Amino acid sequence: MNAMGPRIIRCVSCDGFGWFEDDFSGEGEDCDWCAGAGYVYRDGNERDRPIPQADYASVADELERLELERLRALGYQGSARKPWQQAIRKDTQLGRDPYHDEEES
Ligand SMILES: [Zn+2]
Repeated sequence: MNAMGPRIIRCVSCDGFGWFEDDFSGEGEDCDWCAGAGYVYRDGNERDRPIPQADYASVADELERLELERLRALGYQGSARKPWQQAIRKDTQLGRDPYHDEEES
């Protein structure tokens, strides 16, 4: 048992990105392991589980801190951004905003 409750760790499946690029279709898909959050709870038994959406508000500060840490480790200087907002990916498949694709005619 861990008196501190579950820790939040970077998702081991998607490494904090929260999603994958599908090898076959090239489309981005949410990571099943973390439900797209990029981070999961790890309990005292070293088991991971997705952070429920209902918890996002209460862990937002921690997630933002972890995300900044991750981006800094990647060499990114600035505030946390979604993958498609990162200039380094602008001209790649991952640089598209998946939420805007359907709006283009
Ligand atoms: Zn994940």
